[in-house]
Amino acid sequence: MKQVGILGGGIAGLSLSYFLGADSEILEKDSTCGGLCRSYHKDGFTYDLGGHIMFSKDKEILDLELSMLGDKAGQFYRRNSVWFKRRFVKYPFENGLNVLDKEDIFNCLYNFIENEPGPQNNFRDWIYNTFGKGLADLYLIPYNTKIWNTPPETMGTAWVERIPKPPVEDVIKSALGIETEGYTHQLHFYYPKSGGFEMLPRSFEEKVQDRIVRNFPVKTIRKSAKGWLVSNGEDERAYERIICAMPIFDLAAALEGLPTEVRGAVDSLKYNSLIVVMVGVAQPKLTEQFAVYVPQSDLLFHRLCFYGYFGNNYVPEGTSSVVAEITANEGDAVWSMTDEQVAGHVVDGLAREGFLEKKDVILTDVQRTKYAYVIYDIDYEKNLGIIYEYCKQQGIELCGRFAEFVYYNSDGVIRSAKTVAARVKGT
Ligand SMILES: Cc1cc2nc3c(=O)[nH]c(=O)nc-3n(C[C@H](O)[C@H](O)[C@H](O)COP(=O)(O)OP(=O)(O)OC[C@H]3O[C@@H](n4cnc5c(N)ncnc54)[C@H](O)[C@@H]3O)c2cc1C
Repeated sequence: MKQVGILGGGIAGLSLSYFLGADSEILEKDSTCGGLCRSYHKDGFTYDLGGHIMFSKDKEILDLELSMLGDKAGQFYRRNSVWFKRRFVKYPFENGLNVLDKEDIFNCLYNFIENEPGPQNNFRDWIYNTFGKGLADLYLIPYNTKIWNTPPETMGTAWVERIPKPPVEDVIKSALGIETEGYTHQLHFYYPKSGGFEMLPRSFEEKVQDRIVRNFPVKTIRKSAKGWLVSNGEDERAYERIICAMPIFDLAAALEGLPTEVRGAVDSLKYNSLIVVMVGVAQPKLTEQFAVYVPQSDLLFHRLCFYGYFGNNYVPEGTSSVVAEITANEGDAVWSMTDEQVAGHVVDGLAREGFLEKKDVILTDVQRTKYAYVIYDIDYEKNLGIIYEYCKQQGIELCGRFAEFVYYNSDGVIRSAKTVAARVKGT
């Protein structure tokens, strides 16, 4: 019997086992590990589940990621934009104001400087209080409404420290056309020279290879005299301790005897799903940009990533690709479309906006993922408090984006894995 059972083989589960050592075992439902960090490969095109790049304010974790990748990591410079009124505005939006119409520049600048913050009860209030009405109305409210698929007034603010607040001098400079950067912690970022972002989970996977049980969907979890029994319906594994590194919804579905109050809290958590459409195009370069943010409400996608940015290991010679991200929820109009319909909408939108010509489209490929974005709704902290308290009582550790239900990037997940592993080992 292994001491620790890790449920889920995304970057959380893989890095947990790396930190915990040989007395741990990963149970992964799929035949492939990596979860949201996986990459997809079709006819010479490689892409991720939405734009994934490697950057971190946490130097120790970034250094670890880079040392795991070794010479497979490349360094790149951020060239991102917002697509606004059919022009590229340098990202973040408040750092590219000079290309806007004069009236829009005035509204953004004046309302940013003269802004008098009002009461702050939700995410919408926070946007207006932090950025002023101009930036809020032109970009932040439409973009956030689209990516979250949720009205900002129904969202809380527990996560907003992720969104950097621009210094006033940067906003003035950008309005005057003096170059500023914004968000400098990701100005230079890292990305694998080939193979896609999944090279990061793969690098951990190589170190823990012999501790992974693949094709093991956790279906039931029950307590035993010596710890826990975890089953996929056919095979049962025993552990002294378990760490949940799979979505909290899967834990709740599997745990025997979950109290009604805790089940209710789990069922009340809000999340977004994601549809990703890759379009391969017979044109060597569609744009100089890597990521383009799209607030426009008549286009399905909220972000585009151009993988030719990373060179010919990502697109066949003489071609390029664009990957469109679309927020959706099971059962809604977008999710209910067939893959062909969603891809058709994306290609039509891209052609209409002048990103490509339809005759050049070589192929499309569609991926759907159920758990993509954690939504910080107004009851987020209350519900999570109930869940965390119960797991603590039971001695179940939670680790990862949808296990802890925190809007982590991979660096945050690995940091959490390191912390949880140290706690479990008692160091
Ligand atoms: C669109 C998008 C863009 C992103 N961009 C970036 C970025 O630029 N940089 C960055 O660092 N991060 C980025 N992230 C975040 C990053 O992808 C996640 O933080 C990270 O992948 C989460 O890892 P995880 O292991 O916690 O969860 P997951 O990746 O969700 O892994 C969970 C694992 O559990 C398995 N599982 C599920 N149910 C069961 C079950 N019943 N039994 C057994 N196994 C199960 C799954 O198959 C999966 O392997 C982005 C995420 C998204 C969605």
